[in-house]
Amino acid sequence: MPEAQTGLRVWIRGIVQGVGFRPFIYSLAVRHALTGWVRNTSSGVEIAITGPTAAIAQFVAAIPLELPPLARIDLLETRPSLPDDTQHFEILSSQVEPGQFMPISPDVGICPDCRRELLNPADRRYHYPFINCTHCGPRFSIIQDIPYDRSLTTMAGFPMCPRCQAEYNNPLDRRFHAQPTACAECGPQLSFIASGSTLAVREQALQQARVWLSAGKILAIKGLGGYLLACDATNPTAVAELRRRKNRGAKAFALMAFDLAAIQRYCEVSAAESDLLSAHASPIVLLTKRPATSLAAAVAPNQPTLGFMLPYTPLHLLLLEPTAGMPEVLVMTSGNQSEEPIAFRDEEAFERLGQIADAFLVHDRPIHMRVDDSVVKLVAERPYLFRRARGYAPNALLLFRSVPPILATGAELKNTFCLTRERYAFLSHHIGDLENYETLRSFEEGIAHYQRLFRVQPQRLACDLHPDYLATRYAHQQAAERGIPLMEIQHHHAHLAACLVDNHWDTTEPVIGLCYDGTGLGTDQAVWGGEVLLGGYLGYQRLAHLAYAPLPGGDAATRKPARMALAHLWQAGIEWEADLPPVAAFCAQDRTILRAQLERRIHTPQTSSMGRLFDAAAALLGVQQTASYEGQAAMELEALCAPDETGEYSFTLANGVFDPAPLWQALLDDWRSGTPLPRLAARFHNSVCGLNLQICQEVRQVYATQTVALSGGVWQNQYLLEHTLTRLKAAGFHVLWHHQVPTNDGGIALGQAMIAAFTD
Ligand code: ZN
Ligand code: ZN
Ligand code: FE
Repeated sequence: MPEAQTGLRVWIRGIVQGVGFRPFIYSLAVRHALTGWVRNTSSGVEIAITGPTAAIAQFVAAIPLELPPLARIDLLETRPSLPDDTQHFEILSSQVEPGQFMPISPDVGICPDCRRELLNPADRRYHYPFINCTHCGPRFSIIQDIPYDRSLTTMAGFPMCPRCQAEYNNPLDRRFHAQPTACAECGPQLSFIASGSTLAVREQALQQARVWLSAGKILAIKGLGGYLLACDATNPTAVAELRRRKNRGAKAFALMAFDLAAIQRYCEVSAAESDLLSAHASPIVLLTKRPATSLAAAVAPNQPTLGFMLPYTPLHLLLLEPTAGMPEVLVMTSGNQSEEPIAFRDEEAFERLGQIADAFLVHDRPIHMRVDDSVVKLVAERPYLFRRARGYAPNALLLFRSVPPILATGAELKNTFCLTRERYAFLSHHIGDLENYETLRSFEEGIAHYQRLFRVQPQRLACDLHPDYLATRYAHQQAAERGIPLMEIQHHHAHLAACLVDNHWDTTEPVIGLCYDGTGLGTDQAVWGGEVLLGGYLGYQRLAHLAYAPLPGGDAATRKPARMALAHLWQAGIEWEADLPPVAAFCAQDRTILRAQLERRIHTPQTSSMGRLFDAAAALLGVQQTASYEGQAAMELEALCAPDETGEYSFTLANGVFDPAPLWQALLDDWRSGTPLPRLAARFHNSVCGLNLQICQEVRQVYATQTVALSGGVWQNQYLLEHTLTRLKAAGFHVLWHHQVPTNDGGIALGQAMIAAFTD
């Protein structure tokens, strides 16, 4: 007697389109001898199956276990149905439901199969720089609208040749419905352009580019999410020249090498780090530099780490394919003048990069959305994002409950914005510092694009408290135009909420927030940044903060750690003795002016910034007196820390204020007695770790709270984070810190959105 047949309907939400999901379901159903169909809908995938109950159960259980590499399931619902009398399993055409939405896959680094074909002379796509398949290739950067279909991507202008079309139509081919699929016959092509003329196309263009790079030239290369500037990283003249032309201070350049073995010649790479380098997102990974290498010192001055990535497009692989004379490592830095966003439109790139690049390696597949490379470091054995962009955005964060549609506009520096809908938070890719017209335009275009892609009509807006941030002004303007409510959210409260969402914190219970960063406007108009909050999504209390010190010249002091050191000494009542490095950094006249400025309080806002405290310590110890980018002095101080040092100094802690005056005095005494710099640097860091533990213990006694959230840019400091984690965990605290979202201002928009969502 045949087994009884039952039916089941399955609805799946998540990243399930354009990732080989239907062929996967098809083979799974065939394997379990089930009949029925699978189809894409506007919100995900729908499956109908008929067969014996046990086989159906096995089929459903196997879905999450055998998922295709790029797929992600957020929600899987099943409902019994009547058995169907179909004899086969089939893939049906898509069902469109207006207004529906779904997550979109980020761009994906080249997969091993495509890599093999690319480098195999017998393959029909040998050396074709735009090879891709269902499991890899461009996604977010080429998508103009949903549904994800070739006609709505920048591949629309490249009709498939019969061979590509046959692969695309075959459910058992690995290019089945791979929207950007192409080959040398039908797809995009390379051109090599110098001084306005095209010198070569196709394979010759690639070879020209390699010759120019070997000769020490600087090239602008059109990649996935924008233009990158490249040169030989072992050629000191080329690297120095790139730094000069790009008008870039001391900030490190990102690097790319052909494979892991090549990266290992320059850096220590642990197993977890090599997984991170090879992940689909293919980010820049910050790795510990080996002592002596052939790389130009100017690649990453005074830094113990190097930022390396693997070639994430076929074009990058071909550029780096090892041959005699070809550099093993290329600098691959964003194609911009410092401070501007990365160039991604061709005419714009020629104009903006013409003065920097000797030549251009370009192609004719338009980039629809600008996306920078992401930056990650392995911290406390987990990936820690410094910049969330290519490969991660626009992955949605799944929220623990449904929220109204909200647009949060984020902060000023390292801006991202965030849109919410139902249980999803779409945190944008890194936009940049909103300080110029170019970045602002990129921000506005980004918002329009995400609203369209994810079909979000915001009913509420959220922004920072700071009235002068361009993102805040934009939010006010939108609130007026759309006639919807706007919430201004304190910067450090937003950091705290971002950390909670990032850790799937699903209650409104308050936690202790150690929110440490460089700057953020407080409710008392002071510049906050060393904040101990007790709060959650619903609100916060400021329990304690770093003692106020004057910030001479306002935010401009960010670039002048020496000024910050003198301001802190002045505040602590410590003399500016001539032997102190930050004192010596000024001429007598400038010191007199600074002293007068401090005494008369001329343009000296009060600050509790933890970032500036680290800057001051770096200057005081003679590490760095001027910074060419935010956080430079603090990073150089961290790099010096002696790992085995256990000494520390104390702050005074009274009435919710922690005062560093005794720390400065003790640090100076040790410095004068000749204690080596690495010990002093570590003792300074240990002091802040000790303070963190002390504060949390005091708060726990009063409020019985066991959970601590660490958020804000200062937590990019790995020494501080790891040592604080160790101490807090040893004392029984449950510690939350960032994982999917940067701890810096790149996470602010997410926190703003969540706080706004919880406001009635
Ligand atoms: Zn592939
Ligand atoms: Zn083709
Ligand atoms: Fe911040």
